[in-house]
Amino acid sequence: MSEAQEIQIGQEQDAQVRKETGVYAEADLQQCVSDIGIGLSRLSERPGLPWKFTVVDAAAINAFALPGGFIYVTRGILPFLDNEAQLAGVLGHEIGHVTARHSAQQHSRSAGAQIGLVLGSILVPQTRPFAELGQTGLGVLMLKYGRDDELQADGLGVKYATAAGWDPAGIPQMLTTLGRIEEASDNKGVPNWLSTHPAAEDRVRKVQAAGTAAGAGEGAAGGGPATNRDAFLRRLDGVIYGDNTEQGIVRGRSFLHAGLRFSLEFPQGWDVSNGSAQVVVREPQADAFLLLQLVQRPVGRTVEEVALHSMQNAGFQPVEGGRRTINGLDAFVGTYRGRMQDVGVVGARAAHIVHGQNVFLVAGLAPQQLYQREETSFSATIASFRPLTRAEAENIRPNRIDFYTARQGDTWQSIAERPGGIIKATMLAIMNGHAIADQPRSGERLKIVVGG
Ligand SMILES: [Zn+2]
Repeated sequence: MSEAQEIQIGQEQDAQVRKETGVYAEADLQQCVSDIGIGLSRLSERPGLPWKFTVVDAAAINAFALPGGFIYVTRGILPFLDNEAQLAGVLGHEIGHVTARHSAQQHSRSAGAQIGLVLGSILVPQTRPFAELGQTGLGVLMLKYGRDDELQADGLGVKYATAAGWDPAGIPQMLTTLGRIEEASDNKGVPNWLSTHPAAEDRVRKVQAAGTAAGAGEGAAGGGPATNRDAFLRRLDGVIYGDNTEQGIVRGRSFLHAGLRFSLEFPQGWDVSNGSAQVVVREPQADAFLLLQLVQRPVGRTVEEVALHSMQNAGFQPVEGGRRTINGLDAFVGTYRGRMQDVGVVGARAAHIVHGQNVFLVAGLAPQQLYQREETSFSATIASFRPLTRAEAENIRPNRIDFYTARQGDTWQSIAERPGGIIKATMLAIMNGHAIADQPRSGERLKIVVGG
């Protein structure tokens, strides 16, 4: 591939990422990431590429590179970094993939994303609901490189970061944090950096060795290696954590969508994956799913026609059904039979609900032998779909990063349980660069997440 081709591919895909994933609207943060990235890229082997560094509006913990020098970090990864040296480590690694011209071996998707994809293509093939924002771009771009390429990118990242004057300790620290997330994660299907990268421990050791060899501690500006912790933490203040309101927000069992003005409730304990194309909710350890999406370009004069057409289009045959009113909204609720990839014959309880200009699909799907057991849960979720008032919609605010100074006797558990706290003790520890077994030190300034 010539350099011109590389740049052209990068530019085309960059436009797609910006459109589908969205750019996080915080100018200061964008500027900070761009300044650090540009500084590193100038010291790389390919300083002449049109380097561009962007924070995308996605909750997933991720960073990725496109050919030609287009580099992205998600807003979701930022709270897990402790300082600018760690951010430089992430950016340096991604720059390394570009400068070494690593070609991606395959597109990779995590389990949840795969389920979403499969359901999406089966159920309503032409749909791209919940429009522009979300993780579609990320899903497509979850590039997987070979292990040797990853280690090489680590090494290049250390080299660039050290040359630019960043504390090289930031890179093993960052890898350690990401490794802890991997250990603690229950694989809910959020696509992230870890699912496409080798295990952290081994990389930490290699990177530490590379840091020592690169002359750790000198710093390009002569003032010693920089971390810029305070400046970085100031920029993190108020950053959105988790779903943005445009994508709809998960609060406990509820899904709330301010823009489209509705809410619904999922069964207790099910795992919710809020993607751009659909919300997929899965019963743990079972092949039972609930799916929420917009029916795009509905075909038919009545909701019944729209329902039968969209389900038939997806290969589902109606068993029975009828017109209903769900919390004041016109709907068609039916039982269907069809096939799902990797699951086989499934039963579906599906509601097509007219709300404003849109038709929503809320569907429960389960293998035939499970269907009877699940039907009550499916019907309860369908019945919970309701419009939000303007006041309710305006009250939906995303969760944000805030700070808290630890006091004597505080534990991760006690901080997590404070009023308004959103995330669990484990995530709090990891977000603040601690092993889960550690406890916060008295007087330590900690990142926390508060509800909107
Ligand atoms: Zn990589």
